[in-house]
Amino acid sequence: MKISVVGTGYVGLVSGTCFSETGNTVTCVDIDPKKVESLKKGKLTIYEPGLEVLFERNTKAGRLNFTTSLEEGIEGAQVIFLALPTPPGEDGSADLKYILGVADDLGKILKDYAVIVDKSTVPVGTAEKVTAAIAKNAKVDFDVVSNPEFLREGVAVDDFMKPDRVVVGTQSQRAMKIMEKLYAPLVRQGNPVIFMDERSAEMTKYAANSFLAMKITFMNEIANLCERAGADVDNVRRGIGTDSRIGKRFLFPGIGYGGSCFPKDVQALGKTASEFDYDFKILKSVMKVNDKQKTKMMPQIKEYFGGDLKGKTIALWGLAFKPHTDDIREAPALYNIKSLRRAGAKVVVFDPEAMDNVKGVVGRKVKYAKSMYEALEGADALMIMTEWPAFRTPDFDKIKSSLKNNVIFDGRNLYALDEMEEKGFTYYSIGRKAIK
Ligand code: NAD
Repeated sequence: MKISVVGTGYVGLVSGTCFSETGNTVTCVDIDPKKVESLKKGKLTIYEPGLEVLFERNTKAGRLNFTTSLEEGIEGAQVIFLALPTPPGEDGSADLKYILGVADDLGKILKDYAVIVDKSTVPVGTAEKVTAAIAKNAKVDFDVVSNPEFLREGVAVDDFMKPDRVVVGTQSQRAMKIMEKLYAPLVRQGNPVIFMDERSAEMTKYAANSFLAMKITFMNEIANLCERAGADVDNVRRGIGTDSRIGKRFLFPGIGYGGSCFPKDVQALGKTASEFDYDFKILKSVMKVNDKQKTKMMPQIKEYFGGDLKGKTIALWGLAFKPHTDDIREAPALYNIKSLRRAGAKVVVFDPEAMDNVKGVVGRKVKYAKSMYEALEGADALMIMTEWPAFRTPDFDKIKSSLKNNVIFDGRNLYALDEMEEKGFTYYSIGRKAIK
């Protein structure tokens, strides 16, 4: 099949590359000439494990192409994916200007029937808006389908190639058949393609992300309570995770969720609720609790240093909002950098993949270390923000000899309490007793 993907970010580039891997001819369109230039030269613009091999194979085979021209990109495409940004607008609702802008253009240039697919996360009713925007100028038949994406950054290729399920919102038999054919190679093991109406598909994506954000937040609250009540959240997690109704995943407490999806999607669902005059109380609490959770260790670190961080240097391990990605959007690390600096501390940071992105946002306000151990040299304390595997089994002797104080503030519960005690660290983590 000939397909087009408009928007070549995390979702667009992964989707386009994976669809080319299953034999389709894909043209990815992006408005950013630098991105397209780099991709045309064979250089990936994002870090995503496993993507490079597929990217190289399919660009070489001529199945994966890039352009800045929408008209050129959609030439002959049976399916046109919109993988465009839907950032929060000023009032928290998803801003549809990118999607509707492209829909408007598509109406003017469509030459044959095509299925236009909303792959971006968009609020209930967007498929109707996109249809109207295209229909204003279209001279040919078309269908608009809602096909939300559930991939997780860091394992995006695997998620895309072997999705738990594919959700397709359409009432058009013609579009349904095309979507079924396109996804068939990805669901050969029997995972379902679930067809439904457009509005339900749009709601499904927000319900999934908000539920997961709620699950994490619930555990964060249990963790906060464990600290006060003298319980250990790790034990509680194991105790409840074995209940098949609850499940083991998404029960790890920490310094809050971040990323490009959960914060904005929870907010946007809240906005949808208020538009329909529904007071979605749980969502409001989830947002409030998470905001506080991100800088939850700040009072502890201040207290450790006698209430004042002036002149102190804090080493920060981990900047990405989660491991295996270079994405720093809404990353808790950024909030902590801000709070530490506001409290007068100097900050030295290290992340295996996200350093360049942080340089773009934070600039010279922090120091960038070349390695995790270089970050520690002469620092007063270590804070851990992201659970990169490399941080899990560090050389503790090296940490001790590099830091001025043997103290770690671990926002991701990477280390066992008895080990930290035995090694003589002062160790703060989430939902477990502090080792002092
Ligand atoms: P992104 O910001 O990484 O990529 C969007 C791309 O669209 C950028 O490269 C940008 O240059 C391009 N673009 C903007 N306007 C354009 C235009 N008019 N024409 C062509 N290209 C244009 O965003 P993303 O993370 O890939 O997310 C895209 C959508 O998918 C969002 O709605 C997001 O909520 C959703 N989503 C994201 C993830 C994720 O993990 N990142 C997962 C599931 C769903």
